[in-house]
Amino acid sequence: MRTLIANGTVVTADGSWPADVLVDGETIAQLGADLAANGVTADQTIDASGKYVIPGAIDVHTHMELPFGGTFAKDTFETGTRAAAFGGTTTIVDFAVQSKGHSLREGLDAWNAKAEGNACVDYGFHMIMSDVTDESLAEMDQLVAEGIPDFKLFTAYPGVFYSDDAAIFRAMRRTRDNGGLIMMHAENGPAIDIVAADLVAQGKTDPYYHGVARYPVFEGEATNRVIRLAEAADVPVYIVHLSVIDALEAIREARDRGAMAYAETCPQYLFLSLDDLGNGFDGSKFVCSPPLREKNPNWEELWSGLKKNDLQVVSTDHCPFDFHGQKELGRGDFRKIPNGLPGVEDRVDLLHHGGVVGGKISKERWVEIIATEPAKLFGMYPRKGAIAVGADADLVVYDPNRKRTISAGSHHMDVDYSCYEGWEVQGGSDVVLSRGAVVVQDGEFRGRKGHGRFLKRGPAEYARMG
Ligand SMILES: [Zn+2]
Repeated sequence: MRTLIANGTVVTADGSWPADVLVDGETIAQLGADLAANGVTADQTIDASGKYVIPGAIDVHTHMELPFGGTFAKDTFETGTRAAAFGGTTTIVDFAVQSKGHSLREGLDAWNAKAEGNACVDYGFHMIMSDVTDESLAEMDQLVAEGIPDFKLFTAYPGVFYSDDAAIFRAMRRTRDNGGLIMMHAENGPAIDIVAADLVAQGKTDPYYHGVARYPVFEGEATNRVIRLAEAADVPVYIVHLSVIDALEAIREARDRGAMAYAETCPQYLFLSLDDLGNGFDGSKFVCSPPLREKNPNWEELWSGLKKNDLQVVSTDHCPFDFHGQKELGRGDFRKIPNGLPGVEDRVDLLHHGGVVGGKISKERWVEIIATEPAKLFGMYPRKGAIAVGADADLVVYDPNRKRTISAGSHHMDVDYSCYEGWEVQGGSDVVLSRGAVVVQDGEFRGRKGHGRFLKRGPAEYARMG
């Protein structure tokens, strides 16, 4: 099957130019001007006049079916990857979870069972390590060899995912030898728990106090600490969902002194704020960790961080819980509200709207932070995140002028609300291809469950080169 995407503007991290793209089977076969006029034939032609042609976006932070707080994140690999495809995202990297007292392998097997045969686009796994032992350290080497080279540890959630400094340092030292990458959820969980308990004891139980309890300095402190530990181990470290200037300053200083420190932020920290948590129990829709922050100065600082490459990636931390029946578990105690927001479908458009249309980043930088840098940092480049001959034909024909209104009534994520209900955004994915197959076109899903394959990824070499 040969598909010609004609008359579009190819937009990559390196630049933009008018070009046709020929897809043959699952990969990109040719790039150039006026391919049809030059004798190139195809089984189907997609007219991209007036549109961008961008590499399929990559979301390296999702939690499909994550168990949390006595319930499960609602999207399955099927519904979550279908929603991702509608939003122009053709690869996700989800987090398999090692539970305390269990092996990494058991966690990985459980996530394979959730994903295999169900995903609509390609997927990889990172591994959450909740129990650093001699055995799990040895297992890390095997996982790197199997294409699961990243391990996420937490300084938050004591008693659940939390690792102390010794465990973090041991895991980091292991990646020095096996080529893996440590990802860190950096908030000081033990300190947060003390503040949270105080607030609840004072009767301050509304969702708003979830945001109050998790001080910005707790994120700044933990971010600095884990970067320093990574420097001591002489390994790269990747900070997930950086939300606030205190942590951004730690990243900036680290990078200035030459540390192999990287970070992502998420749309919720660029577009939503502590105010959204404040509307009585409705605020539970916006409970995630780190929490939403004060708008000023954080939004501008995070955009600046993206522009200056202190932040390299925007991912979603997609972890949807229904308001009815799930978020409601935390009525009367914000500590019991399942943490997480839906977002996998909206990231590409929100960043186009707020970033490119909003004049904060170029369209090339937009492609870089949603596709190319994630591919490089997480061992998928140039197979993913690039428009180049031989790369997987994960492509999006993107209309930079289309306007749509975000709503739970029309989104494809399996969750009963949207954090951006009623927002009008400019830009949308018209046609989405995953390895050469059209999976979304004209607002219709044309893919199939099971099309998505496990993506074996390489070790974190790019993160070591800086
Ligand atoms: Zn997460």
